[in-house]
Amino acid sequence: MEGQRARLKEILKAGKLPKLAVFDLDYTIWAFWNDCTAGPPYRRQSSLTIVDRSGEVLHMYPQSRMILEEFQKERVSVGFASRSPVPKWTRKVVETFDLLSIVDNLCEIYPGSKEPHFKSLQKKTGISFDEMIFFDDEMRNLVDVSKLGVTCQYCPRGLSVDEVEKCLEAYRKKQM
Ligand SMILES: [Mg+2]
Repeated sequence: MEGQRARLKEILKAGKLPKLAVFDLDYTIWAFWNDCTAGPPYRRQSSLTIVDRSGEVLHMYPQSRMILEEFQKERVSVGFASRSPVPKWTRKVVETFDLLSIVDNLCEIYPGSKEPHFKSLQKKTGISFDEMIFFDDEMRNLVDVSKLGVTCQYCPRGLSVDEVEKCLEAYRKKQM
């Protein structure tokens, strides 16, 4: 993992960075659909696992936390955009994984298309869509959000350094 962190740092330092990096939650940051779990109360088990009410262990993808932390270190704001049908549960999961401090108040969780999520993020931060990047495992969300001018990256197997590299490459190409 430390090798991956060093690689990520290099990728981040290799060129221009966006001002805001936004991430889907279910199957992008973590490996479950929150509405399919038993729900709260949740208990933190490790930096990458929590336990739900039924005792089931819920996992974050192994590189997610590191990626969020490294963006934050580079002073890129971090946000979440989720269409979860159980927003209160999902917010609790974010809290239990101890990610709320990373996203500050940029945590948009409600059903529907993701366009309102991004309009709200734009309003809260004053950052324009062309200075944002977005990671999601569902193509339809990427279609909606890329129409706004956000650089989008498909993550069919969850977030990893490979996707960050591809996304920043596309973002930097757009700047030229
Ligand atoms: Mg998802």
